[in-house]
Amino acid sequence: MADDKKLTTRAENFSDWYNELVLRAELADYSPVKGSMVIRPNGYGIWERMQRALDDMFKATGHENAYFPLFIPQSFLSKEAQHVEGFAPETAVVTHGGGKELEEPLVVRPTSETIIYHMFAKWTQSYRDLPILINQWANVVRWEMRTRLFLRTLEFLWQEGHTAHATHDEAEEEARKMLGVYRSFMEGWIAMPVVTGQKTESEKFAGALRTYSCEAMMQDNKALQAGTSHNLGQNFAKAFELQFQDQNGDMAFAWNTSWGVSTRMIGGLVMTHSDDNGLVTPPKLAPIEVVIVPVYKSDEERARVVEASHRVKQELTEWTGRGATDRLRVRVDDRDGIKPGAKYYEWEMRGVPLRLEIGPKDLEKQSVFSARRDTRAKAALPMAGLPETVAKLLEQIQADLLAAAKARREANSYRSVKSYDEFKQIIEGPGGFIYAGWNGDPAIEAKVKEETKATIRCIPDAEFRTPGGQARCLITGEPAKHEVVWAKAY
Ligand code: AMP
Repeated sequence: MADDKKLTTRAENFSDWYNELVLRAELADYSPVKGSMVIRPNGYGIWERMQRALDDMFKATGHENAYFPLFIPQSFLSKEAQHVEGFAPETAVVTHGGGKELEEPLVVRPTSETIIYHMFAKWTQSYRDLPILINQWANVVRWEMRTRLFLRTLEFLWQEGHTAHATHDEAEEEARKMLGVYRSFMEGWIAMPVVTGQKTESEKFAGALRTYSCEAMMQDNKALQAGTSHNLGQNFAKAFELQFQDQNGDMAFAWNTSWGVSTRMIGGLVMTHSDDNGLVTPPKLAPIEVVIVPVYKSDEERARVVEASHRVKQELTEWTGRGATDRLRVRVDDRDGIKPGAKYYEWEMRGVPLRLEIGPKDLEKQSVFSARRDTRAKAALPMAGLPETVAKLLEQIQADLLAAAKARREANSYRSVKSYDEFKQIIEGPGGFIYAGWNGDPAIEAKVKEETKATIRCIPDAEFRTPGGQARCLITGEPAKHEVVWAKAY
């Protein structure tokens, strides 16, 4: 495993740094299928923790899990005009099965609105059958041309929530609520602050009435769309005859929402926190929170410190101070024949938040030596009360990561850009989020995208807007219709 060649640094080449880190931290590997990747245990362990936390949040907001088929009849996709236009170029299509040409080709789901609303139509007769609040954990396939490990792959893992409601307002409330769930997960678990807001018409989901998104800033100051929630209006209900009898006995079309987050979030985690020594994982998502490395010179010392290391591990994992189901996740690295320094290097690369070193001197002093992965701060911790101390330290790391990411985002956000020239200088130079007025014209949005590659990430929600607002469109000088966030994005 040990490969002691230094990583390319972020300053040298951010993109190379990212790719090397994902491979070296053993999060994922390239697969023989171009654009698809293999998620390795170190990466999948993070995904499992993400799934668990999100799944709890979905259940707490009234959703249930279900599973729908991988294949969708091709005709289904064509039923919603915008949807097919948006997704048809990205679909993989199965034309043969069992050695015979199929009567109707099957599309490998790029997203499951069509098949799910077809089923909802079957299950819905009256207003009493609503709302339907369903989530599925699945893989989807989008034939992406420019792929990047985790960020944009041909096949990816995600969850897709799908709901049906009796009224527009209920659907709107749901779409907003789930955006809020995403935000609190991203901030509370990934320690990745996000700006929430609404997508413009040209950036919204194919077939949606409105799309809301969470936009995070990566360390190269580019934006990452980390999650989306859509109010689909009645577009799919009309296409799939998802109707119900309302309280007056009249037939009405239902209102749908859908919302999804994917393994892209792991890429977001990497590019938010990691450094030139490798991965930095927020403790709450780390498969291993604490690694204990015994330090010794002789066999006699080895026996004592290895025994002590396992004893400390046991004490940490038996502690129930965080609740019986949330034990500290601890590993002892007692491999013989590998120097402590090499072990430190390896666990740093793999992003374990806290390292404890135990040597003969530590045993004498009844303490352990600790090293934080994020700040690399080192301190001796007394053996007495170690579980509480370690748990507190992990909480502190989690909080500090969020604070650092927030400070970095604010330091690279611009709210008083005076001219399009200045805008271009920022976008082509350091990059960042530019809050600016926009006249609402899609032609202006397209022109800026064409000229600078920056896109409107969102029309930010009230709490993110600049106090006093933006009176004029930065590009045309006309009165601004909205304040928007511009950035180059992944
Ligand atoms: P959408 O259904 O297009 O709204 O996608 C939901 C979420 O999935 C997006 O907000 C992204 O975070 C993520 N996503 C979209 N395409 C990909 C991809 N090719 N690879 C990984 N994640 C993706």
